[in-house]
Amino acid sequence: MPPCSLRRVFPMSIGFAEVRIVKGSALRRTELDTVILDEARAQRRDRVSRPVACPQMTLNAPVVLEGVGLHTGRMIRMDLHPAGAGFGIVFRRTDLGDAPADVTDITARHDHVGDTMLSTVIRNEAGTSVGTVEHLMAAFAGLGIDNVFVEINGPEVPVMDGSSQVFVETIDAIGLKPLHASRRAIRILKPVIVQDGLKRAALLPGEGFKLAFEIEFDNAVIGRQSIEADFMSPTFRDEILTARTFGLLKDVEAMWAAGLGLGGSLENTVVVDGDHVVNEDGLRFNDEFVRHKVLDAVGDLALAGAPLIGRYEGTRAGHAMNNRVLRALFADRSAWELVDMGASEEVMRPVAVPAE
Ligand SMILES: [Zn+2]
Repeated sequence: MPPCSLRRVFPMSIGFAEVRIVKGSALRRTELDTVILDEARAQRRDRVSRPVACPQMTLNAPVVLEGVGLHTGRMIRMDLHPAGAGFGIVFRRTDLGDAPADVTDITARHDHVGDTMLSTVIRNEAGTSVGTVEHLMAAFAGLGIDNVFVEINGPEVPVMDGSSQVFVETIDAIGLKPLHASRRAIRILKPVIVQDGLKRAALLPGEGFKLAFEIEFDNAVIGRQSIEADFMSPTFRDEILTARTFGLLKDVEAMWAAGLGLGGSLENTVVVDGDHVVNEDGLRFNDEFVRHKVLDAVGDLALAGAPLIGRYEGTRAGHAMNNRVLRALFADRSAWELVDMGASEEVMRPVAVPAE
């Protein structure tokens, strides 16, 4: 069944009044952004005559989330605002006063990834950054949300419970709104593989969007785990997007001693000590670890700027490898094509139903 049919499409009431979002400085665009934006503009001009089978989505209303930042330990407030077709996901640091948009705004895109040591950090040319974007990006991807303007008053997305669950539930409660422009997807046309020792990440041609992941830890609790996940499955949200960040006690202690991971606690991290899980309530799944790696991959790959059609494979891969494989994909123009999801049976991300 084409998943778009799971969404009810409503008469277009949304205006394109998100002008205040743009402070006047054009953000640098990739070829892909330009195509998506041009298409959105053309469809807006033509809105009566061209129905949209599979529309881009935004939030039905603004929503606020507050929580501690995993690495800084600071309380962070994040305001998610609806945004127009072709806008994408853009973060604005509101703690930088009246600085111009090219200082405060960062587009969530693979070529803006600046650091992947502990989390995925995006950074603009002025050096302004937002860290730990991956769990929020995974929530947007999982809910099928294309356009959001994110105001944030600090340098990292709050960690919440260490998974995407709080983001998904919060957004779900306010619902989504369809926009009068088709979703476009990036179809992978040929294998793109990056390797670094035992670490490997691959993007391969395929139907829908499937993810396979394998990890191996010299640890009795984690050990060797592998998973095959279908992004289009209705259970993806409950079985993947709820899996939490994890760490080994000795690593976590070393991080805290180094002044990193200051917001980390058993509230937002599964901590493993030798052959047992330190958290009192234990694991959400026996293989929660590899499930979280899939969640991270979905969030990192959402920085492609549009949904992917194909297969991802990760072996011991982390944020760095996920970013490298995306950059390798876009470095080879013959490895991908843009397809209109409205015209295709391969429409993805059926998870959320828009609010009435
Ligand atoms: Zn993560």
